[in-house]
Order: sequence, then structure tokens, then C-alpha cells
Amino acid sequence: MSAVANKEMKFIDIHCHLANFLAHQAGGVIEPDREIIHVSTALNSHEIKLHEEKGIKYWFAGLHPQDSKMSNEDINEFLCKLPYDKITGIGEIGLDRRFVEKKRQFYLLQIQLERALEHDLPTLYHLVGYEYDFIKLQKKINLPRMKIIHAFNSSYEVFKELDKLGFYYSIGTRLLENPKNKRTIDAILSEKRFFLESDALNLANLFDVKRVAEIIERDYNININEIKEIQAQNFKNLLKEKCESLSEK
Ligand SMILES: [Zn+2]
Repeated sequence: MSAVANKEMKFIDIHCHLANFLAHQAGGVIEPDREIIHVSTALNSHEIKLHEEKGIKYWFAGLHPQDSKMSNEDINEFLCKLPYDKITGIGEIGLDRRFVEKKRQFYLLQIQLERALEHDLPTLYHLVGYEYDFIKLQKKINLPRMKIIHAFNSSYEVFKELDKLGFYYSIGTRLLENPKNKRTIDAILSEKRFFLESDALNLANLFDVKRVAEIIERDYNININEIKEIQAQNFKNLLKEKCESLSEK
């Protein structure tokens, strides 16, 4: 690839929340920034409606573990109405030891993994604690499409287990800021199965992926152009999987 093409290659923000911008008609602030492709996340019916109305191109949708208090009826209704043909994948879904009711969280995660399997979709995860239970469930369901852990911040041992299952990782500032993660980050970068993320909810963080790339360049000695190429290739793979899953139907 030529240097010129590299320079023009975009950053991909694999995980952010654009609902606030869309609700306040501030979508315009996203589009002119041609340097970044934002992959959004919709976590309830209202946010899904906004993403559909504004014609957002790339977005995940799903029920966050914090919603495990919802009734089975509401969960079912949400999942029945999900626009599976429009979303890039199901997310952010997962487990979080800080929220109540581990059992309900497992139920919510499992039912969404089953939908991902049924609709042949990629998945994106929020995982805080309960890692080995999560790994066990992943082995059981064995999803064939791309699986991305967002804001990965667990031990190297957990990383090795997830790695065996072919997981991708989206890297944010939180992972990079913790010096104990160096070994894990080295391994993630050398395997090239990574994305960058802002997890932005507001304008102040919306362009964070540039800072993430700068930190990787500075601390891990990978040129920003190379970072851009790797995430672009991974993004192509993610979308190719999605296209294949649609055409197979
Ligand atoms: Zn998020």
C-alpha cells in the first residue's frame, strides 16, 4: 500500500455510543470528520429507533448486562424487534460483577448469544469479572462469527483463554493506561486481532481513537499507518462476515 493511501486511510472507532448526538441533532458533528468511521451502539428501543431514522451505517445493538433486571417478557420483545438485517452485530452484551443478579445476567447473555447464532451475526462484549464463566458459555455456544471484547482489561491468563477462542480486542485508553497490562497488550498487538475504541458518550471523547493510536505508536513502537491498516483489514473481515451471513440466507 502506498504512503498516500495510508495517509487517507481512516481510523475506525469500533465502539461508541452515538445516541446522544443523534437525539440532539448533532449527527452533523460526526459526519464531517472524515478521519474516523464510528461504529455505534444502541442499547434500548429508543436508541435503536434513532439509529434507524438517521440511517446510521455501522452499529451494534443489544442489551447490556445492566439490563438484566428487565422481565423475560420485555427481553423477548426487545429481541424480537431487533433489526437483525440492519445491525453490524449484537452488542454490547456480557457480564459485569458490579451489577446484581449473576443468574439473570447469564440468562440475558445466553439468550443473546443464541440470537447471534441464529442470525449468524458478529458479537461485541462488555466483560468485567466472571471471566471463566463467560469462557465456559462461549465454548458451549461456539459462535462462528467475529467476537470482539470491548475495553478488555483482564489478566494475561484470561486473554490466553479468549485468544484460543479467536476473540478480537478493542483497545481504549483504559487498557493502555494500566502498566500491568503490558504483556497482554504486546500479545494483542502482535497477533493483529485488534480495533481501537473511544466508548464515547459525549463530544469530549468522540475522537479518542486518535489518542489511542498515538499511545500505541509511542509506547509499543507501531507506526500509526500500520495501526490504521490492521484495523481496516479487521473491519473488512467483520463486514465480510456480516455480508456472507446475509447472502447465505
Ligand atoms: Zn460502551
